[in-house]
Order: sequence, then structure tokens, then C-alpha cells
Amino acid sequence: MPLPELPQIPPPGTLPRIRPCGNAAAHPAYDRGVVRVLAVSDEVDEGLCADPGVAREAELILACGDLPFDYLDYLMNALDVPLVFVPGNHDPDVSGYRASRTGLILRAGLPASPPWPDGAGNADCQIVDAAGLRVAGLGGCRRYREGPNQYTDRQQARRARVLSRRAGRHKRRDGKGVDVLLTHAPPKGVGDGDDAPHQGFTALHSLVARLQPALLLHGHVPAYDAATQDHRLGSTAVRNVIGRHLLDVEPGGRAASQTHPGQRHAR
Ligand SMILES: [Zn+2]
Repeated sequence: MPLPELPQIPPPGTLPRIRPCGNAAAHPAYDRGVVRVLAVSDEVDEGLCADPGVAREAELILACGDLPFDYLDYLMNALDVPLVFVPGNHDPDVSGYRASRTGLILRAGLPASPPWPDGAGNADCQIVDAAGLRVAGLGGCRRYREGPNQYTDRQQARRARVLSRRAGRHKRRDGKGVDVLLTHAPPKGVGDGDDAPHQGFTALHSLVARLQPALLLHGHVPAYDAATQDHRLGSTAVRNVIGRHLLDVEPGGRAASQTHPGQRHAR
């Protein structure tokens, strides 16, 4: 979907750092068995730009794509918490980057500068641990035109199998499963749209069955009434997070507990 004009964002280095106050700062919520997540997707939230303090309790930002990287950079720095994202179909190609043993980022064997904000975690087809949660990511939407981050159902199914194998390797190593599956497009028939660009992926059904995350967060589908309802896929809660949402997620839990719908833009 087209992005609105980006609101005024203060230049780097001029942001007030917003930290949890009182006991929350000394004892992060994920030590108490729950992680407060700020989930964002598709639409720049002007209220959040004007006052990031409305999400000051967030300990992790999860971004489902189609948001300007300077907006993500702004949120990450203002809240001073980790950020994990997957790309949407309006984002640049983020594939092919890897860190060398010395920490140098390479692409096609050459030093490269990724387009995403410094310190953010690209979860596309990857497993990322952050703030006590394990996140598996699968960005992109169904191919409907030329451009990056678009896949046929068959291509996405192949990527889903790669992601599932990676999750399995992590689980064998430390026993931990995936808490959140972060995608751009929804599963087919679960809050998706009828038009070709907004149809969901069939492959996400079997991926959810294998990973059994507590929560699947996605964007991409305009927040019409049907799309703004929460859905379930087996024991997994599925939420379209266009705009912004605050949610409490229990690491290793079977379900997201006590979710707090945030500001949601319907258009
Ligand atoms: Zn999209």
C-alpha cells in the first residue's frame, strides 16, 4: 500500500532516550515471564513519531514490513530497545547479506552496507533471538508485479522449509521453540484479501503447524473490518498489526497473554 508522507523525524543524535521507569528498568519484564512488544507495520504512526513515550514500556520492536527504514531507526533509537523486522513488497531487497567471522558484513563476497538500520535484526528466512523471545521471520508477499520481496506460493513454501529447518536446529541446540512468527503477508484464508496482491500464502499453514508459535504477526492487508479481527490458526493467534500494537508475549508460552490493541488505522 502507498506510504503516507513521513512525519518530521528529529535528526540522529537529537532524540531523547526513553527508558522504562522504576522497577521495570531494573527488572525487565522478560525476567518476569512476559515481554512487552511494540508491533508495527505498513503505516507510519504519526502519534508514535510525535511521542514515542506512548510505547515506553516496549522491550522489543517487531516490524512486519513496508515501513521506511529511517522510521524503524527512529523508533529503535527513541525507545532504545532491539528491533527485528521482515521486509515487505515496498522495501528494498535485503537478501544475500551475511556477517563474516570478523563481523564484517558481506554480500556476494564483498564488503557491503545493508540498507536497514544499524543494529536492527533482519529476520527474513532467519531465526532471531531478542529480548527473551525467539522470532522466526518470513517476509514478502505473493508475486503480483516486478520487484523484490515477492514470491509465488511455491517459492515461499521452499523458503518456509528452510526457515523450519533453521528453527529445528536452534531447538535441538537449546530446547527453545519459536515464540513469534513474523511475516509480511498473512496465511491464505486467514485475514487475507481477495485481490491478487493481498492474498495470503498457503505455505504459512504448514509452517505454523510445524513451528507452533504462540503468535503470528503480519501486515500488508489494509485494515478493513475483517482484517482487523484477530484470527487463530491451530493454537497460534494471528494478528494484522498495520499501524501499531502493544502486546505481551510469554516466552515459551502457548499463547500471547493479555494483548493490548494499539492505535489502528482503518483506511
Ligand atoms: Zn505489503
